[in-house]
Amino acid sequence: MAGLVEDKVALVTGAGMGIGRAAALAFAREGARVVVADRDEAAGEETAAAVRKDGGEASFVPTDVAEEDQVEAAVAHCVRVFGRLDCAHNNAGITGAAGLLHQIDRAGWDRTIAVNLTSIFLCMKHEIGRMLEQGGGGAIVNTSSGAGLIAVPGLSPYCATKHGILGLTKTAAVENARSGIRVNAVLPGSTDTPMLQKIMAGNPEIEKMIRTSAPSGRFGTPEEIAEAVVWLCSDRASYVSGESMLVDAAAVAR
Ligand code: NAD
Repeated sequence: MAGLVEDKVALVTGAGMGIGRAAALAFAREGARVVVADRDEAAGEETAAAVRKDGGEASFVPTDVAEEDQVEAAVAHCVRVFGRLDCAHNNAGITGAAGLLHQIDRAGWDRTIAVNLTSIFLCMKHEIGRMLEQGGGGAIVNTSSGAGLIAVPGLSPYCATKHGILGLTKTAAVENARSGIRVNAVLPGSTDTPMLQKIMAGNPEIEKMIRTSAPSGRFGTPEEIAEAVVWLCSDRASYVSGESMLVDAAAVAR
């Protein structure tokens, strides 16, 4: 049976570990050729090697998603190596500046906005440009978060970026509805990745707060988030656009 994204070319940012790595592997298992983009070269190459070991095709491109020339180069890399761009998972992100809002400095705010939100604008700008050049069609999924819908005390810049991603996603979806480019967001709940482990490390109070906020009693796996991403990018989701899809086992519904 053909895979969900057979013969498509997919770009995944932040694919060096966590959700992005799982997405790269899932895209490849479902038949796509994958461009792995990450600013961490060793991690990105490791993901590309894991895809190849799994029988798939992958190419790594070093990319800092906060830098427009590097984002443009990543899209060009997809075209140079695999001939086109069909799917994009704009996923790279950081926890960013932490603390009560009135204690956060301007530099921390600016960095969080650049990596988590400006990056989504830059990625979509160049991905949509390429998809339109190809004659339209294509699918984009942006990684937001449950923090895109509800408050996260202590992480106001992160929370603002994840809300902002939803506005960009919806607007890009409406602007491109006629050209067949679908744009959606995935909103993971607490997912067991290096990012989550880092947030909890050495901080039992935060760990307890995060653990008790999951009604399912467990964290999601990166693979469970990747399932939604690949489906949203597949032709099986042909009438889904502008959607903010929670994958959080009812954490926000609680
Ligand atoms: P992670 O830290 O485990 O992995 C993130 C990857 O992104 C790393 O490989 C890192 O090198 C890369 N990256 C960071 N900044 C980058 C930059 N400027 N340019 C290119 N690559 C960069 O994180 P994760 O938990 O897998 O998170 C992935 C996405 O999911 C993020 O956007 C995060 O906000 C979101 N998210 C995560 C959770 C969770 O519980 N883990 C929940 C909701 C949303």
